[in-house]
Amino acid sequence: MGLSDIVGRVHAAEETAGRAAGSVKLVAVSKVQPLERVEAVLEEGHRLFGENKVQEASGKWPAFRERFPGVRLHLIGPLQTNKARQAMELFDCIETVDRPKLARTLARLRDETGGCPELFVQVNTGEEPQKAGVLPAETDELVALCRELELPLIGLMCIPPVEEEPALHFALLKKIAERNGLGELSMGMSADFETAIAQGATYVRVGSAIFGERVYG
Ligand SMILES: *Cc1c(COP(=O)(O)O)cnc(C)c1O
Repeated sequence: MGLSDIVGRVHAAEETAGRAAGSVKLVAVSKVQPLERVEAVLEEGHRLFGENKVQEASGKWPAFRERFPGVRLHLIGPLQTNKARQAMELFDCIETVDRPKLARTLARLRDETGGCPELFVQVNTGEEPQKAGVLPAETDELVALCRELELPLIGLMCIPPVEEEPALHFALLKKIAERNGLGELSMGMSADFETAIAQGATYVRVGSAIFGERVYG
């Protein structure tokens, strides 16, 4: 547990997979964690973080950014279009583009403001009704729309179903990314990031294994 352990395991998994050192980026998922824990990881020098809620991120990250230059923040939770403007101001990357309406909203705001974070399309590889993400069969079309809108789309993201073998979902995501010419894959969490690295992840999103269990309440 802890940042240095996870950084070490990421490096070991890169090596085992025959991949270049540093080819996998570690997104430290700080949602719900007490500020002291997040601050400790910042003090250790880590700068790449993930949050799943716009509101929650807006409460802590502007102040952290002032104190810790070089922070990069990824949105990894669902985004409502009415929060898109705020999300574009807060985040360096939005990993959860999952429908045409959101893509069009981001493009409109980009035209208005002149800037747009890097984007991933989130794919619902398990086709779970309760889960966000575009269906695998509809992904090519959404990727094409993002390109038509000239959005800065760099990759695909997925969250596999908890009960299933994650490797199958990681392989599916990689296949969809390859046929669309997308180089970045955000996949793998605390329980399965080494599997994801073996399958080609370029970003892993790790929360509890770095910060400890989240305490909701
Ligand atoms: C919370 C969360 C994570 C991190 O989960 P852990 O199991 O704590 O590593 C990763 N990705 C997404 C989308 C999340 O919401």
